[in-house]
Amino acid sequence: MQASESHAWLRYPLLALAWLALWRLSALMQYAPHASLWFPPAGLTFAALLVIGWRAIPVLMICAVTVTFWVDRMYQSHASIHDLLLTGLVFGAVHCLSYGLGAGILRRIVRRRTMASLPAIITAFLVVVCLSSLCAALSGVQSLQVAGILDDQGATGLWLPWWIGDMAGTMVLAPLFLGLLSRGYPEITSWLGGLDFQGHAHPVGTYLSKLLLSVFLLSLVMLLAAHFKRQEIAFGVFFLIVPQMWIVYTESPFRSALSLAMFSTAMAIWMAALHLVEQALVYQFAICVIAASAYFGLAVPVLVASNKQLSEMAFNDSLTKVASKHHFFERSEHTLTDTRRYGLPASLILLDIDRFKDINDSFGHAVGDQALVRLAMTVKMQLRQSDVFGRFGGDEFMLLLPGTNLGHALSMAERLRRLLHDIAVPGTDRHLTASFGVVAIDPEETIMQAFKRADQLLLDAKRNGRNSIGSIEKTGS
Ligand code: GH3
Ligand code: MG
Repeated sequence: MQASESHAWLRYPLLALAWLALWRLSALMQYAPHASLWFPPAGLTFAALLVIGWRAIPVLMICAVTVTFWVDRMYQSHASIHDLLLTGLVFGAVHCLSYGLGAGILRRIVRRRTMASLPAIITAFLVVVCLSSLCAALSGVQSLQVAGILDDQGATGLWLPWWIGDMAGTMVLAPLFLGLLSRGYPEITSWLGGLDFQGHAHPVGTYLSKLLLSVFLLSLVMLLAAHFKRQEIAFGVFFLIVPQMWIVYTESPFRSALSLAMFSTAMAIWMAALHLVEQALVYQFAICVIAASAYFGLAVPVLVASNKQLSEMAFNDSLTKVASKHHFFERSEHTLTDTRRYGLPASLILLDIDRFKDINDSFGHAVGDQALVRLAMTVKMQLRQSDVFGRFGGDEFMLLLPGTNLGHALSMAERLRRLLHDIAVPGTDRHLTASFGVVAIDPEETIMQAFKRADQLLLDAKRNGRNSIGSIEKTGS
């Protein structure tokens, strides 16, 4: 992927600094040696490998070796430089391999667009994160065992919290990092499946108050769980999905991802401060469940928007935005039923542009399209709320006028004929003309039967020299 600025090389030292800072932060949140509620660097590793690709690996390897030496200093284990170097390299290799494989698979899924919808991308992300972190945990524990840092008993107890901790770090933070990176890498925006990480609908004060409420409730549950030393109370954190979903449904995706990160950080800090070691797995699972639910929640507004777009596409003609053929006939049947119930007349006008092919051939289809749009706008300006206007296809349009008798419909057609005659084809000095077929709809007639009669009259108008109106009154047929 290409970074847009000329300072692209800066991303590598920045990545290293951010990774080490996150690692230090997670070390501060440890509730026991090597055990933390979550492992935030895993989220950055996954996001970096997803965005930068294999080029991020040397930086991540340097970070892995650095933290191995750091751990040695923190716990005063005084291992030899050779052993520390080897352990760091093995840890880095299994960490990068696990997340690199996952990121590669997710990248292929998103790029190939075999699963284009956002819920499918979210599902793929969750499955990939779950498997990558499992792989990272199992191979990480194995590498510590081989290096002699962990004995068999330690390894048995460590792989599950390691897995869930890595999974929580990746699940919560990778989307936030992707959202942040999408500012510098526009390609990522398309990966995010329609999620807008940039815009914020509400004032920041409202957002902060929701965030504070969520953290306050979390603190309350954790303080109570610590005070009464009851695991049942710890399960109360699952209820905090409610304020998180409130944020997800009312704030931007970026703010939602940020809120998940804040919430998880607060949880990790409380866990370390209150020494809630026995309840660690409950909180770890809660983070993962809340994050996964929040991501599916983020997909809802996108799905609603795309459903709205789909139904608009099905109901309206994409070019002129008037009713599509199918929708016109459906709406007309309903309108006619109402009109007949009140004993009112109804009329139908068909119109077809004269010699439209010539306009396309002389000025191109784009100009022809603009002429169609201008015609539709001109006709729309003349309509009442109850009238139904549709495009049959090509350059043929239809108008149902409920409560209008043949005389008034003919006047309307004449007015339209004159108006259209005054329209210049955009960008040219040519004027549009159209031919019309007008009928009064009989009380027993269907809209399709009336359409066939009007179409016949339209053909008569074409035969009679165009730019004219065909009606039973006029033709006398
Ligand atoms: P007539 O006076 O007999 O109606 O002549 P005409 O050239 O208008 O012939 P007709 O109505 O049969 O042809 C309509 C043409 O409209 C054919 C097609 O090339 C063109 N057309 C159909 N749909 C579109 C469209 O969406 N955009 C454009 N630009 N042209 C279209
Ligand atoms: Mg035509």
